[in-house]
Amino acid sequence: KLHNTIQELKGNIRVFCRVRPLLTGNQSDVLHIQLPAHDNKALTLAKTEESHTGRMADTQKSYNFSFDRVFGPRATQREVFEEISLLVQSALDGYNVCCFAYGQTGSGKTFTMEGGDLEDLWGVIPRAVQQIFKLFVCWKGCNNEITVTNLTYQKVNNEDEVHNLIMLANQNRSTARTGMNDHSSRSHSVFQLDIEGQNSDRDTKCKSVLCLVDLAGSERVQKSQSQGDRFKEMTAINSSLTNLGIVIAALANKESFIPYRNSKLTYLLQNCLGGNSKTLMFVNIAPEEESFGESLNSLRFASKVN
Ligand code: ADP
Ligand code: MG
Repeated sequence: KLHNTIQELKGNIRVFCRVRPLLTGNQSDVLHIQLPAHDNKALTLAKTEESHTGRMADTQKSYNFSFDRVFGPRATQREVFEEISLLVQSALDGYNVCCFAYGQTGSGKTFTMEGGDLEDLWGVIPRAVQQIFKLFVCWKGCNNEITVTNLTYQKVNNEDEVHNLIMLANQNRSTARTGMNDHSSRSHSVFQLDIEGQNSDRDTKCKSVLCLVDLAGSERVQKSQSQGDRFKEMTAINSSLTNLGIVIAALANKESFIPYRNSKLTYLLQNCLGGNSKTLMFVNIAPEEESFGESLNSLRFASKVN
């Protein structure tokens, strides 16, 4: 099984879809999202359109998608990370790795990347940090060629130091009230760990970057009724997400020119996107029927990347 997973990860861009559970406590079936029982790579979004005249039968439209892996509402944080730990291992083997979560506000991006305080609920970042510090001995901060205004580098020696930095970063992360979600994250959160080490058995050095990114919400501007500064912010966010999509699609199509410089986000991620780096995108989906349109948009975005 391990061998199969390694084979599956051989290509450089992977897309995992994750559907979060309903949060209302009403755990009745979500009819418009169908996850086939024996195929963990497929998902169907279906919508019944009522006939307006009442004389014609209702029509059902369905949209089929397939990804490298689809996680249903019952998938645990541990199960999700099991599929990613090989990618983290790749970072220790000298590959640059980027894993990011894309989806509308409230779809489970932060839950997937950061998760909760209890160890069972830990998301990708704390699990990756744990895995790395368990396996590695020798740590050293290193300089990076790419710089962004106000970006600082901090040398870290253990898991606790990383957690403290993440907490500080979260305090700095600007959150503002929008029409959709009080705690809607209006910014991208980029966790970047530069890894430099020396193998004890062989006398070789390895240097790589592990980037774990919780993107800002992908929802359309109109829906969140943003105004003024919020509107400008949303427009900038949508444009950086669009540019990210363009870069990933260009990489997937093996195009000769990759427009990294079109946005700060892709510029920052340049080191760990493309080349022989490995990229994993989560597309996070909210199961509520009212999110149908945003879910369809997100799934289409992710399909272009895949
Ligand atoms: P986003 O970061 O995309 O805006 P969040 O990660 O904050 O969304 O998720 C919204 C809410 O749903 C949070 O309360 C979060 O704890 C919960 N949630 C998301 N995904 C899951 C999941 N797989 N299982 C349980 N709760 C989840
Ligand atoms: Mg979030």
